[in-house]
Amino acid sequence: MTGSRLQTALRRPNAQTLAELLRLPDFGPIYQEADRIRREQVGDTVHLRAILEFSNICRRRCRYCGLNAENTAAPRYRMREDEILSTARQAAEAGYRTLVMQSGEDPYYTPERLGGLIREIRKTGMTVTVSCGEMEESAYAHLRDCGADRYLLKHETADPQLYSRLHPCGTLEHRVDCLRTLKRLGYETGGGFMVGLPGQTLETIGQDLLLLRDIPCDMAGIGPFIAHPRTPLKDSPSGSAELTRRAVALARLLLPKAHLPATTALGVLNAGVKNDVFSCGANVVMRKVTPDAYKKKYDIYPAALPPTEIGSGRRELEEQIRALGRIPE
Ligand code: SAH
Repeated sequence: MTGSRLQTALRRPNAQTLAELLRLPDFGPIYQEADRIRREQVGDTVHLRAILEFSNICRRRCRYCGLNAENTAAPRYRMREDEILSTARQAAEAGYRTLVMQSGEDPYYTPERLGGLIREIRKTGMTVTVSCGEMEESAYAHLRDCGADRYLLKHETADPQLYSRLHPCGTLEHRVDCLRTLKRLGYETGGGFMVGLPGQTLETIGQDLLLLRDIPCDMAGIGPFIAHPRTPLKDSPSGSAELTRRAVALARLLLPKAHLPATTALGVLNAGVKNDVFSCGANVVMRKVTPDAYKKKYDIYPAALPPTEIGSGRRELEEQIRALGRIPE
């Protein structure tokens, strides 16, 4: 398929046309086009973000997630505010310009407490991205006033029935309302979804991509579902790395200027494919700065997490990005 034919197919895409593209035996030309658009629209820079997982306490029961409240075997932790701030300072010293603050929906971290932390972290010069789940509009507005610039809230799946089966605590409609609220409040807004959820079809992925464009999202995290042994989905097969990469490439074509991370989950399935995704549209990567004592406990899906020091971890990542011919920032 040529670039111009592809552009025609994508001018008014529906879930069906996107599913047909995802199904193509040879995806090479689409990968090339995604790489070209990425270079033209967002350049060769790869943004390195530090992610701090400051609490794994969660009131929700998402059926794929190891931190769901029903998993009473999971050891829980909540970092103290001084620990959060000292980790944030170390990330800034290591050269990170953005800190992503992620957690379960932990009632202790009220908008007031989070807002206070954001104000302090902003003093390091870093930009703050929040990823703490669903909140009231007034809470999102408060965090924005305190200096949060971005918010990550994946929509997880755009199929409302599948969404309801996976989330006994919420609806797709409410999740999307939250994303629209964040957008209205002036956040750089990140959506995203999992590839390979049980019951998902290629058409569902088409709908996922269209939803990202409809909001429209400024960032999109697209990663494979990975079965966690202590969840109701423990026996479901994990998502395909190749299909995930295809979905990222189409996201680049549909949202040319978006920030698209090479997700951690993709690296869990296959480290090679994670690097490869930088040649198919991705331009962001997140690195955990969560202290080693807590990192293993942020067990949303099984992953091997060797201990690393924040500074050397950052330098290692910069080298990996340079080896791909790209510019770490
Ligand atoms: N509480 C926050 C952060 C959630 S964890 C929120 O609700 O947004 C971050 C992401 O991990 C989720 O959005 C989900 O897409 C992903 N995730 C959770 N469990 C997963 C699994 N088993 N496999 C792959 N990704 C998973």
